[in-house]
Amino acid sequence: METSRVLVIGIDGVRLDLLPELDTPHLDGIARAGFLAPVEVDAGTPTMSGPCWTTIVTGVGVTKHGVWGNRLDGNRLDVFPDFTTRLAADCGRRTFAVGGWEPLFLARQGGPLFVAPTRLGYVAPAEDTPEAWEETDERVTAEAEHLLCLDEEFHAGFVYLGAVDETAHFVGCGTEYRAAVEAADRRLGRVLDAVHGRRERAGEEWTVIVVTDHGHREEGGHGGRSELERTAWIAACGPGLPPGQAPAGPLHHADVAAHVYTALGIAPDPHWTLDGRAFAV
Ligand SMILES: [Zn+2]
Repeated sequence: METSRVLVIGIDGVRLDLLPELDTPHLDGIARAGFLAPVEVDAGTPTMSGPCWTTIVTGVGVTKHGVWGNRLDGNRLDVFPDFTTRLAADCGRRTFAVGGWEPLFLARQGGPLFVAPTRLGYVAPAEDTPEAWEETDERVTAEAEHLLCLDEEFHAGFVYLGAVDETAHFVGCGTEYRAAVEAADRRLGRVLDAVHGRRERAGEEWTVIVVTDHGHREEGGHGGRSELERTAWIAACGPGLPPGQAPAGPLHHADVAAHVYTALGIAPDPHWTLDGRAFAV
């Protein structure tokens, strides 16, 4: 497992039902090489970014990590850290986390979620608009490319793209939203190219996981339990994931962190009390 590496790319608020009609070749490629499968946000979890992303990267549900909204105050991340922090602090691995949403990366609004990865890259949006968030995601992508192209060891990383969600909140799930999803896919493609470069150069074996946190109502917005809001998805490919075969049984957001550890050859310590388990086909 010395050559095992994992990258998680989080794209906020991407509706599963729209993917078949959108031009997302890079996501489609991951689905073909592995799988793309629905995730229903757990019944007790608000369909909001804060709790969903926290579950995704800690591998435990809201009753453990204590993040119930988009303010992260009162969280128990000291007991249930995100995987970039745990891997760096307890497992001797080097990690990074990059993105532009404040509470994930900064000590603001009760954050950060990513407490202490080896490297942290935060890109501040100039303002809260879809245009500013496109620019932010562009710079986040460039930062991820930069880190992956460095002659520096990284075992796991997380990249956050937020423009899709911002667009839905501003103008609903119409033309602009669809274009934002396609732009996110092009950025995914650039990050995958950088990963491919490392594979070639260093013989690393990468697992790639792409995940969204929740859906959106047609007019934009989420937080309720409608099917459009509670339906998320995970796509992944890499060693041990046969092409085109979806995992057996329902997937959960908490499975992402569990799979990260397992893919790196680390058996989760029972004391971590993870609620997720590695993707099993
Ligand atoms: Zn979100």
